[in-house]
Formats: sequence, C-alpha cells, structure tokens
Amino acid sequence: MAVEEEKQTAKPVFDEEAASALAKELRATFASAKTRSYQWRVSQLKSLLKLTTSNEPAIVDALRSDLSKPELESQVYEISMLKNSCKLALKELRNWMKPEKAKTSITTFPSSAEIVSEPLGVILIISAWNYPFLLSLDPVVGAIAAGNAVVLKPSELAPATSSLLAKLVGEYMDSSSIRVVEGAVAETSALLEQKWDKICYTGNGRVGRIVMTSAAKHLTPVLLELGGKSPVVVDSGINLQVAARRIIVGKWGCNNGQACIAPDYIVTTKDFAPKLVDSLKRELENFYGNNPLESKDLSRIVNSNHFARLIKLLDEDKVSGKIVLGGERDKTNLRIAPTILLDVSRDSLIMNEEIFGPLLPILTVDRVEESFDLINSGTKPLAAYLFTNNKKLKEHFVRTVSAGGLVVNDTTIHLAVPSLPFGGVGESGMGAYHGKFSFDAFSHKKAVVYRGFAGDASVRYPPYTKGKLRL
Ligand code: NAD
Repeated sequence: MAVEEEKQTAKPVFDEEAASALAKELRATFASAKTRSYQWRVSQLKSLLKLTTSNEPAIVDALRSDLSKPELESQVYEISMLKNSCKLALKELRNWMKPEKAKTSITTFPSSAEIVSEPLGVILIISAWNYPFLLSLDPVVGAIAAGNAVVLKPSELAPATSSLLAKLVGEYMDSSSIRVVEGAVAETSALLEQKWDKICYTGNGRVGRIVMTSAAKHLTPVLLELGGKSPVVVDSGINLQVAARRIIVGKWGCNNGQACIAPDYIVTTKDFAPKLVDSLKRELENFYGNNPLESKDLSRIVNSNHFARLIKLLDEDKVSGKIVLGGERDKTNLRIAPTILLDVSRDSLIMNEEIFGPLLPILTVDRVEESFDLINSGTKPLAAYLFTNNKKLKEHFVRTVSAGGLVVNDTTIHLAVPSLPFGGVGESGMGAYHGKFSFDAFSHKKAVVYRGFAGDASVRYPPYTKGKLRL
C-alpha cells in the first residue's frame, strides 16, 4: 500500500493537542450557558432515552460480542437500568433544580438563605468494561441533568460497546456539549492532562490513584467508583435454598462474577459450611446444568489476560486442593466454570486481591459473629451481605461493618434502589451517584444569603468599643 494511502486509512491519533482542543471547545459551549437551561437538559435526557430504546438489539449484540453477555442480563442490568435513570431524571429534574430553602440564624437576622445547585462545567467520565453500556452512560445522565458538558471515555476492553457508544452519542446527542473519545491508556492519559471540572472514574484502584494524581494538579474533584472484596456472611437457621439462589444470581448471574458488587467470598461457620456447599451445588446445577462451560446463561471472561489472572488464582498450590465444585476451564473460549473453594487460607493470592470472576472461596469461623472482625480487618469493601434471621446479628452487622453498601438476606439489589447512594468508602471509592445523588455529584451547592437594608446591626462595625464586646 502506498504511504499516502496508508496515511488516509490510519486512525487519527487522539493526543494531548487533540484533548486540549476538545476541552477548549466544550468549555466554550459551557460558557455560552447553553447546557444550563432546563430545556437543554430535558432534550438531552430524552435523546439519551431514545438512543437506548431505539437501539436495544445493537446494544445487546455489542455486549454479546464483548463479553458473551446473556441477553437477559444485558436487558435488565444495562438497558433497563439506564432507561430507568433517564426516566427518573426527567420526572424529577424540576424538583432537583429548585433552590433549597435554608434556615438562617439570629446572627444574620433579618435575612433569608437558599442552596442553589449549579453545574460544575465540563465533566470527564472514564468507564470500565464489565457493564460497558450502563457504566458509561449512567454518569452521563447525572452530568447532563445537572447542566454540564461531558467527555466520555469508554473502556477499550469492551471494543464493540465502545464503538457503538461513539456512533450513537454522535448521532443522538448534542455534539457541541457531549462527546465520546475512544481509546486506551494513551488517549486517557492525554485527557487526564487537561483541566476538567470533575472526573468520574469507574475501574480499579491502581488506575484510580493515577486519576486522582492527575486531578490534583488542577485541584479537580473526583468521583471514584472502585471495587474490592465484597463478603457474604451466612448464618445458620435461614432458608438455605433462597439464600443459595440469591448468592448465585449475585455472583455468577452478574456477568459471571465480573461485577464490582458481586460476592467475592463467603464467611460461614465450620458446622454450617457443608450444608451451604451442598445447597450452592444443587442450585448451580439447576441454573446452569451439569456442563456450565457450555451454558449460554454465563458470560465469558473478558480477555486472555483476565483469564490467565483467574487461572493463576485457582492454580496456586495453597488453593488448588480446596476446590469443592468446578475448576474446569476452556482457554479457547475464555470460559471458567462456577467454582467453589472451601477453607482457603487467608494468605493465599485469591484472598488478597479482588477476584472479579467466577471463583468463590468460602472461609470458615467458629462463631458467625467473628465474621465481622474478619471483614473489618481488610480494606473497606464496596458491598457486604448478610444472610440471617437473627435480629441482633443484623443490627450488629449494620453497626459494625463498614462498606459502600449493605444488603441483608440478598445480594447486589441495593444497586437498583435509586433513592440510595451508590459508591464506595475507603479503598472502594469516593463519592456516590444514582438518582438524585447523581445530580448532586455533578452540581456545586452554592450557598446564597439574601438581605435587605433594614435592621442594620452595628455591633460588627468598628470602632470595637468595650460596650460592644459585652454584647
Ligand atoms: P478497565 O480496564 O476498563 O479500566 C477502566 C478505565 O481506566 C478504562 O477506560 C481504561 O482505558 C482506563 N485506564 C486503564 N489504565 C489506565 C492508565 N494507566 N491510565 C489512565 N487510564 C487508564 O477496567 P478495570 O479497572 O479492569 O475494571 C474493573 C475494576 O473496576 C474492578 O476493581 C471493579 O470492582 C471496579 N468497578 C467498579 C464499579 C463501581 O461502580 N464501583 C463498577 C465496575 C467496576
């Protein structure tokens, strides 16, 4: 091929110069006040809803291509959740935008005060591969509802969804204010060199630290949606079949364990563990048959690097003898069967990093209450789950376990409650979004005090006489 021809077909490079030009362009749009109006916000939220409803088959196909994601999971956890976010924002936007009355004090009498939500400016959203449609566009809902301009950088590890997002956002959204930049580390680094008004990053803590370091150079605030090892504590005296099903659907039914709030490990008592293992085995077979490597209802592992990472966790000497179910793998098709490990040692690799895949270790303790100390001895997880019928244990769990969110007698469902904030604590993240929390995450809460000219107290005016001091 001639050099000239090659030049024409090569993908344009998105470097620092391009990133700077893009940031400037969006900043100019934001400065024009276009994105602040209620009408613009509503029109963009409607366009985002239309983008989703009119392209469901293409979204499902892209997710199948990137992850072999089963259609039901794509519909429920990616498409419906995004539609619900748009609909809620459209329904509540007027209320969210209303200034909030605030009490004043005797010191400022007579006066009134309010909290005014104003957009921050231009938002950079960097998202992850595991729910590549939802995690890219859900923060966009909050950012545009709050009246900001947005740059979205989807994950290169879900290339079909990334390119679909670039195409659809270009077609449906206002391109003077909302843009997609595709790419990997080089492109993200170029974006991170620019000044943004907030960066929302979803992904692992190592890159979270890179994002926060870059943001610090410009004093840019960050919303970090990270991960961690989310535990499940299982007490005895429960409806074991229901508990097993809810653990399975939260683990393997969420992208085959590749979900930030999927159960990472179980803690139960030594006595109860065999019953729990039997029940999990039975329900797993009911759900996925006796050859789960062939099941169409399980996503594959995203790529060969993550496949090799998971196999390394499974094949470690300390761990390989502990498999009580599964362990089968198919390297060609990037599939690993649901795998349960019993009594793995706490210093094994699998207990010292987020698993993010279909492996589920079970740790045992003498008394269920010991589980909470075990959880609290590690870094703070994104989610923690407890199955019990014991009221005191529930209360103790809620009081003592620190995590982004907790669920009692189920897993992962807090994600679907829009009146709850979704986010981590400590190493599992910083800040939260969903529902009104998304609007707030991308707004500045401006304090405003109103006064007239009457009642002008003189005590704070010089000269500072002794008489004034006694007041
Ligand atoms: P990933 O590999 O897709 O990376 C996330 C983003 O970071 C991508 O857009 C990528 O291009 C960018 N990136 C990667 N390396 C970079 C670098 N060196 N410099 C700048 N940018 C870089 O996703 P991941 O990190 O594998 O995602 C999995 C992690 O994300 C898990 O820890 C999971 O728990 C967490 N997660 C959290 C949530 C949440 O809502 N809290 C949701 C999904 C995933």
